[in-house]
Amino acid sequence: MNYIETQAIIIGGGATGAGTLRDLTLRGINSVLIEKNDIASGTTGRNHGLLHSGARYAVKDLESATECIAENRILKKIARHCVEDTGGLFVTLPEDDPSYHGKLLASCKFAGIPAHELSTKEALALEPNLNPDILSAIRVPDGTIDPFRLASANVLDSTERGGRIFTHCDVKSLIKEGSAVKGVQCYDRVKGMDFEIRGDIVVNAAGVWGQHICGLAGVELKMFPSKGSMVIIDYRINNIVVNRCRVPADGDIIVPGDTVSIIGTTSKKIEYNEIERLIVDDDEIEVLLADGEKLIPHVSKTRVLRAYCGVRPLVDISGDIKGRDISRGIVLVDHEERDSTGGFITIAGGKLMTYRLMAEMTANLVAKKLKVKKKCSTHRIPLPGSEKKIQPMKQIKKFTGIPGSVTGSTLYRHGQRVHNILTKDRKNYGLICECEMVTAGEIEYALKNLNVKDIVDLRRRTRIGMGPCQGELCSYRAAGLFVEFEAAGAKDANIMLKDFLEERWKGIKPILWGDSLRETEFTYWIYQGLFGLGDIPEGDGKK
Ligand SMILES: Cc1cc2nc3c(=O)[nH]c(=O)nc-3n(C[C@H](O)[C@H](O)[C@H](O)COP(=O)(O)OP(=O)(O)OC[C@H]3O[C@@H](n4cnc5c(N)ncnc54)[C@H](O)[C@@H]3O)c2cc1C
Repeated sequence: MNYIETQAIIIGGGATGAGTLRDLTLRGINSVLIEKNDIASGTTGRNHGLLHSGARYAVKDLESATECIAENRILKKIARHCVEDTGGLFVTLPEDDPSYHGKLLASCKFAGIPAHELSTKEALALEPNLNPDILSAIRVPDGTIDPFRLASANVLDSTERGGRIFTHCDVKSLIKEGSAVKGVQCYDRVKGMDFEIRGDIVVNAAGVWGQHICGLAGVELKMFPSKGSMVIIDYRINNIVVNRCRVPADGDIIVPGDTVSIIGTTSKKIEYNEIERLIVDDDEIEVLLADGEKLIPHVSKTRVLRAYCGVRPLVDISGDIKGRDISRGIVLVDHEERDSTGGFITIAGGKLMTYRLMAEMTANLVAKKLKVKKKCSTHRIPLPGSEKKIQPMKQIKKFTGIPGSVTGSTLYRHGQRVHNILTKDRKNYGLICECEMVTAGEIEYALKNLNVKDIVDLRRRTRIGMGPCQGELCSYRAAGLFVEFEAAGAKDANIMLKDFLEERWKGIKPILWGDSLRETEFTYWIYQGLFGLGDIPEGDGKK
């Protein structure tokens, strides 16, 4: 595999790149995606997974708000198994400007976002953990979306239709002939090998790294890297997305997701050269916990599981403005038109929420250049797993002999693909991760079908190690299964295990107090005291 030829090459396996790969494949355009780490390992896997109704932007950014509500309706149909239709609340606290409530209602109406005023009693009945002192509440069609599942389902649909993806492969340079881009030169970090892909069009969907990719093409695109941090608490303290009814600011949203709740977010402008060395600062954690507690007082009684951050891939189009004020708008650049550099397109900005729309806009431009007439169909063809509306009780009954909690969790994560996972083989039902109810069968399915190269990738496909114990009791079992299912040798499985625990550690370190500290000590005793994992030799440095 030293040389590949195709029509379109996509750089970046976040939601935007994955969505573009799917859209192009559905139009019959031969496409290859290159991702330097794993699917959804960039900003796509580092947000709070809010399925925006658009209300958050309604007062200040009408364009983003209307895009959000349109995509909200589409994603609830095509990505059912990635979405939880939780609904959302905007609540006013005694210290907030009460006039924002009216402004938000009026702006939502203008943007076509269904927003209804609730009495405080009604709001508290819907979300009993809410601060009982709230002054007013508005209900909106917010929801949650699992970014890992979403990006992976886009890739799966494409690869099942002939699209190709190479993960853990870095685009090192672009191949240019004259002023036109003709392909990419890549390095496979797992195999330690260089390879080349040539194609008619190269799509730069590298998110905040898009600035660097443009540099490789010899054109300029300035990003505005805005860091946001979030904390995860160890169980779901809310079932509805809770937003503070005020101009968006730090610590004003709590999003439930899977088994946990996420408090978000901050906004700090960072330098472009800092994007690879992201750190959650202590003051950010303090703000998030203090403001989170104002929305849901229960926050102070929970254990913080981890903290993490991401960088918004915003494009600096307007000079001197603050991170939160910069447009969330989509930026599609035809470099042939703008820079006289043919065969090169950049798609950036936007949100997870608008990934499909961004992919559609990009694929429209690619199709036009390649003179392909087929139109976009991603708004009507469901993603694999989301073909039918899930009726959990009906499905659970079908799998007789398997605990409902196992079927329910597998169904929740993989939708209709549950039938490929829970087979008749009883061995498949063995629980590997008790926090998230991940079975050996689900791991086998992920290893064989979902581009999994290591345990960190496996976490993104199955949620293994993402629950309250943070991998303490499941990761060594998962490493064993890599060997059993012939996805790795014993030596590599040990290295993967070490890398996985190191990766978990990064998010635990900033919140190391109380029960988290106790749990971490216990994990250390198991993996260093019992297994001596810290003493195994380093890998060969390929990844
Ligand atoms: C704190 C925070 C909270 C947010 N919350 C929300 C939310 O709740 N809802 C919402 O809709 N949006 C949210 N967003 C925005 C959303 O996360 C992003 O807009 C979206 O995920 C960007 O996706 P992307 O695919 O464009 O970029 P990315 O996900 O960053 O993908 C780019 C990919 O390119 C790869 N890459 C880079 N360089 C190379 C190379 N040389 N070779 C190969 N691959 C390369 C990277 O590894 C990366 O995987 C949030 C963002 C932040 C920071």
